[in-house]
Amino acid sequence: MKHSNIVGGSTAERVINCPGSVKLVATMPPKPSSTFADEGTLLHDCIADLLDLKVASAKDLIGRQYNEQIVTEELVEDKLLVAMRLLNTIDPNNEMDYEVEQRVGFGDFLPGVFGSSDLLGRLGDTAIVLDWKFGSGVPVEAEENAQGLFYACAARRTDATKWIFKGATKVKIVIVQPPSIKVWETTPERLDLFEVQLASAVLEAKQDDAMLSAGKWCKWCAAKPVCPVMTGEVARVGAAQIAALPADLIGGYLKTADQLEAWIADLRALAFTMLEAGAPVPGYKLVAKRATRSWANEETAKALLLEHLPESELTETKMCSPAVVEKKLKKLKLALPEGSTVAISSGTTLADVDDPRPQVLQLGSQLKSALSKLQG
Ligand code: SF4
Repeated sequence: MKHSNIVGGSTAERVINCPGSVKLVATMPPKPSSTFADEGTLLHDCIADLLDLKVASAKDLIGRQYNEQIVTEELVEDKLLVAMRLLNTIDPNNEMDYEVEQRVGFGDFLPGVFGSSDLLGRLGDTAIVLDWKFGSGVPVEAEENAQGLFYACAARRTDATKWIFKGATKVKIVIVQPPSIKVWETTPERLDLFEVQLASAVLEAKQDDAMLSAGKWCKWCAAKPVCPVMTGEVARVGAAQIAALPADLIGGYLKTADQLEAWIADLRALAFTMLEAGAPVPGYKLVAKRATRSWANEETAKALLLEHLPESELTETKMCSPAVVEKKLKKLKLALPEGSTVAISSGTTLADVDDPRPQVLQLGSQLKSALSKLQG
């Protein structure tokens, strides 16, 4: 499948947020395929054939292959049949007219900008834009899904698919990611707005100084290894400008930040107390913290594990910390031997100028400034 080298459905979020990535990505070699990507391609082809009635039943697809990936009975049961059942939930009476695997693009409005949509359908007054996600890693949201918005806008401008949007008053972006389905209802006006965002990003992407901006869209960006935001080059340019910053203002803001931090901490504590007491806090809920594993029964676990590993592999011993040893010595009315410990700070931290701790000397920068004076 050919991809746009400017922006397509899967890259729309990145390009809108980081137009500068287009030129950077163009300098990178193509990414090698992965087993996950190959499995996704295989399942997309299979479900397209099912919907186009090219195969009689999903079971007939068992054994089909793409690169190293093969359709197994498990894939049919867990992915294809579940996806088809989820599709039935939005079209229970089989009334939808649809097109599958359609190439859609922006024509003369944005030359070279196109993509391939999984399923575009029309049900009553609603245009449906559906995307299959067969990977079970990161759950994909339907709301404000840039890929769905991209396909919807492109399909409106494509001769073969514009009928789907003609007269539609609602647009549904649907993400089917077995075992879940997510649906977001939006309007043709939202599509108009998205087109403006996309067009301005495509225009900016052509500039030499197009904006680079990091965010969650960086995850799939092929230019990460050479991106100046990622390599710190942007930070180095920022450092050169530090001398010009308004230090007085920043000091003042920090005082305000201290007060705000205390206010935020109290606010969080209050919301927590309310939720614990059963009172609602709109937009928030209590969830369990990340669980850490421990042995259900240490002795039983040890007995089981000794069949596979020697005891020395199961037990680790290390020296107690200075604080623990100091406590033990205190009971014997003894102190830690002189020179037996060193204090290593894990770094520096910001403190009020009245804090009793001594100021840390920035040796690197002070040496540099002393040297430059000597050389001058
Ligand atoms: S890594 Fe992130 S910031 Fe850098 S070019 Fe890619 S999307 Fe933009």
